[in-house]
Amino acid sequence: MRTRLANFMIGRNGSDNLSRFVSVVVGIMILVAAIVGGSVSSMLWIFIVAGLAYCYFRIFSRDYNKRREENMRYLQFKSEFLSYFHGAKERFSQRRDYKFFRCPSCRAMLRVPRGKGKIKVVCRKCGASFVKKT
Ligand SMILES: [Zn+2]
Repeated sequence: MRTRLANFMIGRNGSDNLSRFVSVVVGIMILVAAIVGGSVSSMLWIFIVAGLAYCYFRIFSRDYNKRREENMRYLQFKSEFLSYFHGAKERFSQRRDYKFFRCPSCRAMLRVPRGKGKIKVVCRKCGASFVKKT
């Protein structure tokens, strides 16, 4: 049975970060659906089934490159999302003296002193510049 499954999975994408994430979300939705019940839960089941279908589609997909690209996009989004929360506490404590912007071209977080009027902000990561009021 184990070798059969292994043979079946040859050339297929298998489980990756994105499908693991989707399966966790599906698991949470199943729990919520079980707790709340009623019409909310029947609506949730649509998403649960769709999420599971998507998960299995990705795991058994033979288009490895495309799935890997999706996984990379997911990982990048995740790290951006986490970094946003990571610096949030520090930004909050500095909010009196500094203003924070996201670079429009590379999404890096930029810090500029407050009360300088309209200034040109130059991104230290990618060099793009934009005008902002501080
Ligand atoms: Zn930038």
